[in-house]
Amino acid sequence: MNPLLTRPRVDVAGTVDEAVDRLAELGPDGAPLAGGTWLMRSPEPVGTFVALHRLAELRTTGADVWGASTTHTALAALPLHPAHRALGRAARLSAFPQVRNVATLGGNLCARGFAEADLTPALLALDATVEVATTAGRHRIDLDGFLRGPGGLLVSAAAPAPANRRSGYARLTVRGGGEYALVSVAVSAELAGGLAAGVRVAVGSVEEQARRVPEAEAALNGTPLDPDAARAAGEAAAAVLSARDDLLAPGWYRLAVLPTVLARAVADLLESP
Ligand SMILES: Cc1cc2nc3c(=O)[nH]c(=O)nc-3n(C[C@H](O)[C@H](O)[C@H](O)COP(=O)(O)OP(=O)(O)OC[C@H]3O[C@@H](n4cnc5c(N)ncnc54)[C@H](O)[C@@H]3O)c2cc1C
Repeated sequence: MNPLLTRPRVDVAGTVDEAVDRLAELGPDGAPLAGGTWLMRSPEPVGTFVALHRLAELRTTGADVWGASTTHTALAALPLHPAHRALGRAARLSAFPQVRNVATLGGNLCARGFAEADLTPALLALDATVEVATTAGRHRIDLDGFLRGPGGLLVSAAAPAPANRRSGYARLTVRGGGEYALVSVAVSAELAGGLAAGVRVAVGSVEEQARRVPEAEAALNGTPLDPDAARAAGEAAAAVLSARDDLLAPGWYRLAVLPTVLARAVADLLESP
């Protein structure tokens, strides 16, 4: 029988350890199930889902830590520190209300091959770390390492919030909301004496995987984050990124609009209180 037509089994985990052990038993035939908004469109058949909705630990949030099962709607409604503004904006601008109400931070970061994931560039610019549970125990690693590594059950993401730090986010879609971004940019910087320091720039949806762009960061460091500096940083990013083509846009278009989207992300950062 066509595996896409068979009904998957759903096991409901009662604890994080139970989920990790069950996933280890299942191997490639199992997968965690959070909001299911990515999985429902996945062409890869899964034999058994391990549902995470009973895991209260994954739903807890604090001032600088967000459980993996926190929904986009909940993230968008949090009173975030200005250093974390990009995360709230990314959550608010992604998808549309019905999806945001169930889609989770963990699902966004763990959906493999998802170039357009909005929360990923925001959390990369926030210099986030993630707590991961495996059969070998728990560990905390930086988000970039997690995205490029073997994975594990994501428990939470955390990011520091120094007093002078601000962040901003912008994305471009073909039409209005409810669409994947053609380009998304998150910027984080410390503003001391009117000049930017410790700038972090992450670009999503251009390459296959969102990533930090050191060339854009160098172009913004020491500037007042004015529109000219922002556009120059966008051009520096466009010069080094390998843009992908898809049905929504060719790669050259993503690179052509990148300086404008980066300038909008910087403007969003400057709007932060
Ligand atoms: C119509 C529509 C529009 C969308 N628009 C956007 C958009 O504009 N921007 C955007 O970013 N996304 C968008 N999405 C994609 C999706 O909704 C989000 O990426 C969402 O964050 C996925 O979360 P989820 O909880 O539904 O994940 P799920 O579908 O449950 O899981 C996604 C993947 O992550 C794994 N996983 C889930 N939780 C964990 C965990 N804690 N640890 C380890 N692995 C885990 C799952 O096994 C699966 O492989 C859209 C989806 C739909 C259906």
